[in-house]
Amino acid sequence: MKTLKFKLYQHKRNKYLKRSINAAGVIYNYCIALHKRYYRMWGKHLNCAKLQSHIAKLRKRKEFWQSVGSQAVQDICQRIEKAYQLFFKHNKKGVRPPGFKKVKKYKSFTLKLAGYKFLGGSRVKIGNRVYQFWKSREIEGKVKTLTIKRTPLGELFMVVVVDDAIDPQIKFTTSKIAGFDFGLKVFLTCSDGSKIESPQFFKQSLNAIKRACSNHSKKLKGSSNRERARKNLARTHEDIANRRTDWFWKLAHDLTNRFDVLCFETLNLKGMKRLWGRKVSDLALSNFLNILEWVSRKKGKQVVYIDQWYPSSKTCSCCSYALKNLDLSVREWRCPGCQSVNGRDENAAKNIQTVGASMVGLGEVRRSETAIAI
Ligand SMILES: [Zn+2]
Repeated sequence: MKTLKFKLYQHKRNKYLKRSINAAGVIYNYCIALHKRYYRMWGKHLNCAKLQSHIAKLRKRKEFWQSVGSQAVQDICQRIEKAYQLFFKHNKKGVRPPGFKKVKKYKSFTLKLAGYKFLGGSRVKIGNRVYQFWKSREIEGKVKTLTIKRTPLGELFMVVVVDDAIDPQIKFTTSKIAGFDFGLKVFLTCSDGSKIESPQFFKQSLNAIKRACSNHSKKLKGSSNRERARKNLARTHEDIANRRTDWFWKLAHDLTNRFDVLCFETLNLKGMKRLWGRKVSDLALSNFLNILEWVSRKKGKQVVYIDQWYPSSKTCSCCSYALKNLDLSVREWRCPGCQSVNGRDENAAKNIQTVGASMVGLGEVRRSETAIAI
């Protein structure tokens, strides 16, 4: 699976797509309200099939709702169902049930099998209208889903998920394997001792956001100055995201040139995000790993994940002596077994490398399904 992103040409006609997104937002909120009401009345979860058939019936009577394809309406129901299942499973860990969303801020709708058609060239038919997109690359493989996204700046993108059956063999060009420890200050510590710092512009860009944000909140609500400030803020966010993604691509290419197999600890990223809030999402490790997996696939390299419960920081990489506990603040420790001094991150990276290498040897490695936004 891979995800391709195309920009749609600005056109008056695009207002119909924006209208569809708004309708999708309205339907979404309607579904949430139904869920809540159903639970209040029956004390039970409203099941997805029931909701879908009910909404499908209602849609026939509501003209505005018909501006979204029936497939997209099904997708909304399924998404809400997924969110509820996640909530049932992890509510003790603080996952909240899906809630209402502002229609103005609602971002997208997704079509699966029907409701769109590629007409060749850069034209695509969505519903009964034809739109043009900036065809930056060929769409190869079988199209699974088509999503229309609206950015905060009001631009429209088409995101296409295709099934590409290619699964290249691993090519051993460097015959090197490396482990990586991920941190908040040093982005990655490599088992060969090298460090990859988070680039300076991450920090600088935070200041730019702060400035744009306070500028926005100072303006009078509903004024055109505020709207201008809002756009400016959205542009700043977008700009930073682009720079970061660019850096990630370069780093992914650099690392896959240097190594054949790259080992990481699986991190419970969703959990981390919930616990630490913005910090992790700012660093966007999962974003980077997606890109790295994508590049690795292309180049025939391999990304390996080791179990997150392996005590990579507490085990000595020289003699595998395991400490009982190691405080987070300790950056360096002397091994009681072999007397070697272990730097925390580097030691962890070495252990990740060792475990990862043994997994490759045993053939336990599964290639993960990757989807990536380009
Ligand atoms: Zn030791």
